[in-house]
Amino acid sequence: MKLLMIHAWNEEEMSYRGRFSGMLSYPSMTLAVLYSLVPKGIFECVDTIDENSARVDYDKTHYDLVMISFETSSAITAYKHCDAFRKRGSYVAVGGYHPTAMKEEALQHADTVIAGPAENSVPKFLHDFAEGHPGQYYRDYNVCMADHPIPAREITTKKHTLGIPAVIADRGCFNNCRYCSMRTMWKSDPRPVEGVIEEIKGLKSRLVIFYDPNFFGKREYALKLMRAMKPLKKLWACNATADFGYDEELMQTAYESGCRGVLIGLESMSSSSLGDAGKRFRQADKYKEIVDNIHAHGIAINGCFVLGFDSDTEEELRALPERVDSLGLDLCRFAVLTPYPGTRLYTDLDKSGRLITKQWDRYNQHNAVFTPANMTPERLNEIYREVWKRSFEWKRIFHRMRVSPWRHKFYIFILLGANVGFKFLGIDKKYKKR
Ligand code: SF4
Repeated sequence: MKLLMIHAWNEEEMSYRGRFSGMLSYPSMTLAVLYSLVPKGIFECVDTIDENSARVDYDKTHYDLVMISFETSSAITAYKHCDAFRKRGSYVAVGGYHPTAMKEEALQHADTVIAGPAENSVPKFLHDFAEGHPGQYYRDYNVCMADHPIPAREITTKKHTLGIPAVIADRGCFNNCRYCSMRTMWKSDPRPVEGVIEEIKGLKSRLVIFYDPNFFGKREYALKLMRAMKPLKKLWACNATADFGYDEELMQTAYESGCRGVLIGLESMSSSSLGDAGKRFRQADKYKEIVDNIHAHGIAINGCFVLGFDSDTEEELRALPERVDSLGLDLCRFAVLTPYPGTRLYTDLDKSGRLITKQWDRYNQHNAVFTPANMTPERLNEIYREVWKRSFEWKRIFHRMRVSPWRHKFYIFILLGANVGFKFLGIDKKYKKR
């Protein structure tokens, strides 16, 4: 039997790529994890396609089984693949964030939905399939990350990415931000430190990126992991929350173990909007102090902001480039607030009739898909593009290079590349009013 695994990508999403977008991307772990879960001896051939770097050809080979993983913005593309492969006689199973939240919709295009974590469900489904009785729905809440297999990185491509390998120690987060879909998929369940260290030891690259949504969320675990990483002499980056900037021991240990960058969802410069977002840390007036504290430990910061909360006004959003300058961040990025199915935000906006479309390819963080409280969706789109454009004027990029704690290090070029990548992201040219 032949198996094909696809990580689907929305075609429009790909067109947002700019000339330097390889400086902004890391290899996808989805297929590497799924591949590592395929039991030996069932399939004579297992092919994979990451649409980030390769096209899907429906007729090249006949596959008995096609498995497709996708997020909301790629749902339309993924359903097109499902329909095409089923028409050609393949059995189709889907998984990932969107099918997890939209089971009934996904079952209109696929034979099986695998919701939530794949670790137990995928091998179970594959055995059932091989024995001729696959189920329609799989969801296992009892995944133990101690059994997490080492992802099959050999099948991933570095094309269109920075090529820095990614590692996951704990993919859950105990926070409950209103717009975040993390909780629909995973619970916090850190892997044993020894397993993570073994995996990192096997990586040739000196640079490593952690995909954990909140690396320091379980403080004692993070400290233990970082102390164990110190002898490996890797340089690494991760996602963090703003309160990291007030924890001296965490910042010091992070730097000593090789942490040189954190991505923080600062989300807004307004404390009321942080309240709308359901953030635990809501003191936007402390951001400058936090940035300075983290910088003092030699760690650079990518600060991410979301536009479109109910408390956001046009004036506040339009002032973002200047306010971000005043923080002294090393890199910044912006997104339009997007209510993904399965989140509290989606449920609230749907109930109140404020969603203006359920055309899933618009749910890509570049377009307003709901009516904001204080402006029209069109105005939010315009302001979003203006903020991107002004934030990546050359003078601002060079200012960021000058204030960065990386300014005398070789990896300042990664930061410069990322800033230039965002400058040419292509948001202006691809914006279409619908
Ligand atoms: S802190 Fe980040 S990962 Fe955690 S719930 Fe909020 S947005 Fe999601």
